[in-house]
Amino acid sequence: MNILLFGKDGQVGWELQRSLSVLGKVKALDFGSTEHCGDFSNPAGLADTVRALRPDVIVNAAAHTAVDKAESEPDFARTLNATAPGVLAEEATRLGAWLVHYSTDYVFDGSGSRPWVETDAPAPLSVYGRTKLEGEQLIQQSGCKHLILRTSWVYAARGGNFAKTMLRLAQERDRLTVIDDQWGAPTGADLLADVTAHAIRHLQQRPQDAGLYHLVASGETNWHSYAKYVLAQAQQAQPAIELKATEVAPVPTSAFPTPARRPHNSRLDTSKLQTTFGLTLPHWQQGVARMLQEALA
Ligand code: NDP
Repeated sequence: MNILLFGKDGQVGWELQRSLSVLGKVKALDFGSTEHCGDFSNPAGLADTVRALRPDVIVNAAAHTAVDKAESEPDFARTLNATAPGVLAEEATRLGAWLVHYSTDYVFDGSGSRPWVETDAPAPLSVYGRTKLEGEQLIQQSGCKHLILRTSWVYAARGGNFAKTMLRLAQERDRLTVIDDQWGAPTGADLLADVTAHAIRHLQQRPQDAGLYHLVASGETNWHSYAKYVLAQAQQAQPAIELKATEVAPVPTSAFPTPARRPHNSRLDTSKLQTTFGLTLPHWQQGVARMLQEALA
């Protein structure tokens, strides 16, 4: 199997380089690649890349993920999150290739407290959410064989992440304030990449299972409880991490005004994915604990 991976150096893209490698030959590109265009601001260049490499599977991990910045550059966000994936979908259709793409809980307005299912009506609150939704729709309308995985609160062991930031701040400050009214599930890039590889394999046997799925770790939390869990893990580490912060205070989203509005309810129901692909999604704490053990080692 020939796999073409875009966005190879992002959180998910990096882990995909590992997980996809057992499925076949992987050509991995990012926007700086010189041999073939991997720049999502150049959709025509992406089409040339697909035509030249003729992959069996295209996996797109590239995106405009700077949620607040997207509010002030909506056209650029739209090109990266909608137009470029739409072009990849057209090329996949022409070639008969699969397209695997990631989307987000931000396609929903965050109302209520029930986990969202795939058939719930999207109503994005932000430019990021709107452009990601448009990307989904262009892929679905293209008629290509596709897998769209909506996820939330992605972290990776490599580079910075929320957990590492909380650890650092707790070592520097007496008191932290963290939002407690946004709910979701922190999801590891490694989990996303592993499930993606499994799903691609599955779809070779059962192409009728193509479509849109929610994929997040099990359980739920809010940013405040997430931070408290991270700090508790640090205190249990051997040797324990010395924390200066004696208080982690819960605050509402309104305490941290941002250009983009974020959903309060980012819970995603993963029943469809677990049933269709025969997978069990681990609790979010399991992945976060593993990542912290590596970070603290
Ligand atoms: P990252 O921001 O880590 O990765 C996105 C990648 O796209 C980065 O390598 C980025 O490069 C790259 N990129 C930026 N501009 C361009 C461009 N013009 N051409 C090509 N590549 C470009 O995001 P994640 O790995 O976390 O996200 C993977 C997917 O998951 C995305 O579709 C995202 O929308 C989705 N998702 C992410 C969530 C999250 O919490 N992060 C939550 C829900 C969904 P650089 O870093 O150099 O800018």
